[in-house]
Amino acid sequence: MVRTLDTVPGMARTRRCAYCDAPLDGELGAAARYCSRSHRQRAYEARQDDIPRQLTRRIRSLERQLASFERILEKVADTSPACAAAVTDALREETLAAFARGAAAARQRGPTIPRT
Ligand SMILES: [Zn+2]
Repeated sequence: MVRTLDTVPGMARTRRCAYCDAPLDGELGAAARYCSRSHRQRAYEARQDDIPRQLTRRIRSLERQLASFERILEKVADTSPACAAAVTDALREETLAAFARGAAAARQRGPTIPRT
């Protein structure tokens, strides 16, 4: 839980709706975060709408990391023929392992209907 001034002991202030920032009715329970059911629902929908953007950011971040690892491997491979051979061997092992995982996953999914 994120600590705000409202949750720090001795710093009690008017609690506010997490969606519209309106002051929360004092009759709402201590756990209430929204002024109304509709604002709880709108906040939920806003979080759902945000998922594609979060995934896009995550994919871009992983792509940058991958490019960085590729540059590291290329630099290591460039240092000597022995390193180049070791990098090539490691890449071959990883590729074969990934292929085996993909084949195992395909077997688990079951036979596919052949196309005509
Ligand atoms: Zn509200």
